[in-house]
Amino acid sequence: MAAATKKIKVAKASKPVKPAVLQAPKGMHDILPEDAWYWERVEQAVKDTAAFYGFDRIETPMLESVDLFVRGVGEATDIVEKEMYVLKTRGGDHLALRPEMTAPVMRAYIEHGLSRVSQPLQVYYFGPAFRHENPQAGRYREFYQMGFESVGGESDPVYDAEVIVAGARFLESLKLKNLAIQLNSIGCKTCRPNYRKKLQEFYKKEINAAKKTKVVCRDCERRLETNPLRLLDCKSEICANLKAQAPSILDNLCFSCRQHLKGVLEYLDEVGLPYSLNPYLVRGLDYYSRTVFEIFSDQSDLALMGGGRYDYLGEALSGKLIPAVGVAAGIERIIEVIKTNNLLPPKKSAEKIFVIHVGDLAKKKSFALIEQFRKENIKTAAALGKDSLQAQLKAADKEGSPFAIIIGQKEVYEESVIVRDMKTGGQETVPLKMIVETLKEKMRK
Ligand code: AMP
Repeated sequence: MAAATKKIKVAKASKPVKPAVLQAPKGMHDILPEDAWYWERVEQAVKDTAAFYGFDRIETPMLESVDLFVRGVGEATDIVEKEMYVLKTRGGDHLALRPEMTAPVMRAYIEHGLSRVSQPLQVYYFGPAFRHENPQAGRYREFYQMGFESVGGESDPVYDAEVIVAGARFLESLKLKNLAIQLNSIGCKTCRPNYRKKLQEFYKKEINAAKKTKVVCRDCERRLETNPLRLLDCKSEICANLKAQAPSILDNLCFSCRQHLKGVLEYLDEVGLPYSLNPYLVRGLDYYSRTVFEIFSDQSDLALMGGGRYDYLGEALSGKLIPAVGVAAGIERIIEVIKTNNLLPPKKSAEKIFVIHVGDLAKKKSFALIEQFRKENIKTAAALGKDSLQAQLKAADKEGSPFAIIIGQKEVYEESVIVRDMKTGGQETVPLKMIVETLKEKMRK
């Protein structure tokens, strides 16, 4: 992103201005009123699940220091190498639009000394993240994420299981069915370097033996040196054969990592949550250790949720080991599944009283009456910009209002209103000072 220091050219008002192409930046989108309901519903499901499992809300800034992600997410990751939106402020700070929220949560935990509260600190978030990726179905440059994070305390497999269960329950609460949880362990500082070396040696040997035949894609040629574990989640057909023969990380875990994985699986068994082990699952971010997982639903090919343990993130940022585990979900992907499968009942809007005016004086009185109704918690709608009675009645019909209040010149002088039953068309005149009570009574019925 360009620095905000360049002067912005403003077209002179006297010259005819060429109409600009008005569209949201590539890979970014508006949430229109007709869709906002889905977002509210999903956010509510996050809040409900969080409250149930004991996660409190945390909000971190949209911008963070670039260094946080370089040190936290890892230099050799796609996010840091090519996907961050970076800007330089007038003061010379290098900031990045947050590409994810786990590193910011850990930054906040360290900055505010949250190890002083009861551990682990359990927090949830809901908000936008930014990655300069190639936009395609289910992949955007601005997208919303929700997440549950369990930070501090012990590196106990029970917390891994808890975030997985909470994540799955959140998806189930939105009627997403047949969830498939894929799980792996990517080891720790003791066993991972040995495995990484073994994997590198295997690939190098095979590449040499194949001579000029291409057995790995160009990306993997690079990964072999910079981030060998990522060889395992390459989707290219060129690499498929070699990948299938590669040594499995599950056969190369140290005793503690094997115990940890066993613990997670036992807790999941205990609550009857099915999973499958996927030794190729490594995930894109460097900070993971031991457990990594992704959650799919049979209604989508894309991962809806992903997460894992990140015991080394705190250490990378503060020098102190801070065990932690978390899960994050992409909200757009979830909403796409909900919409295409009609998983949630359509929005039912609250019934509103419709106030109709006839004449200028009545319009002013209507404006005040609407205000009075709203103060009395009576949901009210009107079409004050329309003056014809017919047009306003039509609008009341469209709104689905059970009752319309009609005020004309005569009613203004008599200090009364007409109450029209929109279903039957029946009308009665009610004194103005009785209208709130009368309406409340009618709505109760
Ligand atoms: P990650 O932060 O990469 O572990 O991703 C966690 C979840 O966020 C994924 O399972 C997706 O559902 C979602 N997600 C990640 N990247 C994107 C993106 N570019 N567009 C939409 N959703 C995304």
